Formats: sequence, structure tokens, C-alpha cells
Amino acid sequence: MLPPGDAAMHVAKVLLESGHETYFAGGCVRDRLLGLEPTDHDIATSARPETVASLFPHARGVGAHFGVMLVPSGGHMIEVATFRSDGAYEDGRRPSEVSFGSAEADAQRRDFTINGLFEHPGTGEVIDFVGGRDDLDAGVLRAIGVPEDRIEEDRLRMLRAVRFSARFSLEIDPSTREAIIARSDRLGGVSRERVGHELRRMLGHPTRAIAAAMAESLRLDVSILGTGRVEGGLKRLELLDDQADWIDALTAWELDRGTAEAAGSPARLTEALILSNRELVDLEALLGIRQAILGRWTESSLAHRKRLAGRPQFARSLAIATVDESELCERVEAEFHGFRAEGLSPQPLIGGDDLLDAGLQAGPRFKAILDATYDAQLEGRVQDRASALEHALGLAGESGPGE
Ligand code: ATP
Ligand code: MG
Repeated sequence: MLPPGDAAMHVAKVLLESGHETYFAGGCVRDRLLGLEPTDHDIATSARPETVASLFPHARGVGAHFGVMLVPSGGHMIEVATFRSDGAYEDGRRPSEVSFGSAEADAQRRDFTINGLFEHPGTGEVIDFVGGRDDLDAGVLRAIGVPEDRIEEDRLRMLRAVRFSARFSLEIDPSTREAIIARSDRLGGVSRERVGHELRRMLGHPTRAIAAAMAESLRLDVSILGTGRVEGGLKRLELLDDQADWIDALTAWELDRGTAEAAGSPARLTEALILSNRELVDLEALLGIRQAILGRWTESSLAHRKRLAGRPQFARSLAIATVDESELCERVEAEFHGFRAEGLSPQPLIGGDDLLDAGLQAGPRFKAILDATYDAQLEGRVQDRASALEHALGLAGESGPGE
């Protein structure tokens, strides 16, 4: 497996040596100029898709219609796109027709000047048709061309502006900013999948609180989250760990906005962001555990506290709850560490089969007896199989056989 930069260089060299104008393009040029390690290395070239396919027999067309090919190289898939000048946009998303064009036209169709840079793979020279270098140096995020038009072509660019601006600490240029604010209620025309995908990237990054504040100041929050307008702090979001999952960030943001616990919130977010089942389970667990910690940790039985601490989202939920009651949460955290040292969620000492073997008949009381016995185990009142069984049979006896 080659380093990704070398893998892309190999592909670029083959294209160059076959006489095709070829550049590294977009994010990887930007990232390198910022001194960051690029995540992906996209190539833009004058070679048509069929030429790319003939030079690289294992290349695959992804959206070949748009001139994009994936070329395997050194264990990576390198995106190779033919220079194009996109035609009219239909649904604010995909160009209805694609026309191949010059490198300059290809730069002009990109969203922001910082994303419109090319780099010559042989010489390392940066080719800048859009003033992206100056904007990078000055810390400015600016739409290429007329901001109103560029946003009308693809309204998702409003969210991309927020993401790039937060991630690279860029000021949004005033005319781009005004164009966004004037259209902030028009994100509705963009598919929820695309909005959700963009938000995942935004909230998955350590600059999430900056991005959220910016989204609110540009009035994009309403159409992202499907709520009314809210103003307030972002304390929970700011305090999250850099590594926090995006769903934790969404939960924190919703709590900061005071909209998390309204009836129907999980359904609203599922619809607005196309949450997966897993994400929805996480969101609901994070909220529910937080409630249980803040509402009744101190009064709860040891077994109940241990059961709660054994839930997979416990630590993440506790981190979000800390803003509300820091002293309580410090105590909870200490207790949690104690529980963990003893082993969270031990295997139950007995199960339903043991009750059947002991002559009980399966019935509605089974689960309650097993639950109560597990509580006794968590609290150390029974320590082994025999005492657990004795405890269970005692409970069964109280309610009559088989009941
Ligand atoms: P990241 O590191 O977050 O992936 P990136 O700049 O590579 O940043 P991508 O979404 O991967 O962003 O897109 C690659 C390039 O394609 C961008 O740099 C930009 O030039 C162009 N691009 C992507 N999405 C759009 C869009 N919606 N409108 C115009 N140009 C776009
Ligand atoms: Mg990218």
C-alpha cells in the first residue's frame, strides 16, 4: 500500500506522460497550502473518460456521465475527473447536462475559491484561476463568481460554506454571507440525505461549536434541524471532547437549543437528517440516560445505578450532562469508575433455564424474578449460582408456584 499522495502521483504521471493536461485539484491543493495532510487526492484532467479507461484498464466509471472515473492505484481509489463546465442546474443539485471543457472552466464551476485551485503534479506549481490563493492567505471563504447564482445552482453550498469556514477558521466574504442569509430558508429544496451528510461532517469535526454558531448566525439552523429559531449559548457543544461522535454533538446542540426533549424530537431529527436506526438509538439513549442521571441518580438503588452505568452510551451521556450539574456528575463519574473496576454488566448468575430445571413453570413472573435476582447480584446480595437460585426460588415462593 502506497501513501495516498504517491498513489495519486502515479496516476497523474501516467496521464501527463500520455500528453494530457493534468492537475491535482480542489481539497488536496487547499489542504497542502494550509500545511495539512490531504484526506483525498482528486485529479482533474483533459483526458476524456474513455481515454482514462484505456490508460487504466481497472478504472471504474462512477458517474461516468459526469466524467468521473475511479482509478485503483497503490491500494487506493483515485478520483480522476475530466475538466468540465457544468451546465444548468435542475433541482439545485446535479447539472442536467455535462460539457467537457478547459481547466479554467473546471475551476470556475467549483464552489469556493479555496476549493478551485490546481497543482501541477510534476512541478508543484499552483494554478489559480479564481484567486483562491489570496483568499487562503487572507483567511477568506468566497464563492467563485456571483454568490447568489452559485447558491441558487446548489443550495447545499450554504452548508459547505459553514463547514469550510469553521474548519479552516475563514471569514465568509460579506457578499457571500449576505447571499446565504437571504436564502437561508431555501435549504428545503436540497435532499435531506445531502443535508444530513453535510451536517455529519460538520458536527463530526472538533470545530463543531463554531460551525453551529455560524449556522445559527446565518439562520440556517431552522432548515437544518426543522425547528423554529432559537438563540442561546452552545455550552454543551463547546465542552464536548474533540473526538466526540457527531450524534453526541447533535444531542448536545439540541439540548443547548432547548429543543431536544420536546415531544416528537427524535422523529423530527430522523426526518430532517435521515438518521439511521443506530443513530436514533444512540440519540434516544443519550437523552434518556442524561435524564436519569440528572433526575434521580442519588435516590436510585445501587442495582439501578449499575444497570444505567452498564449501558453502552453511559459515559458519553454523562459528558453531556456535566454542564447541567457538574458536582453531581463528578460523583457519578467516580462511582462509574468504581463500577467499571468491578466489571460492568456481569453475566447473570442464573437464567430462565435454571428456573425451569428447578421445577418452575414458565410464566409472566419469570422475567420479574430474573430481574430481581440480577439486581441482587449487582448489589452483592447473591454471589454465586446457588445463592442466586435460592433467591429466585424464594421470590417464586412468595408469588405462588408457576405464577
Ligand atoms: P474534504 O476534505 O472535506 O473532502 P474537499 O474540498 O475535498 O474537502 P469534497 O466535497 O470532497 O470537498 O469535494 C471535492 C472538490 O469538488 C471540492 O474541493 C470542490 O472543488 C468540488 N465540489 C464539491 N462539491 C461541490 C459543490 N457542491 N459545488 C461545487 N463544487 C463542489
Ligand atoms: Mg474531499
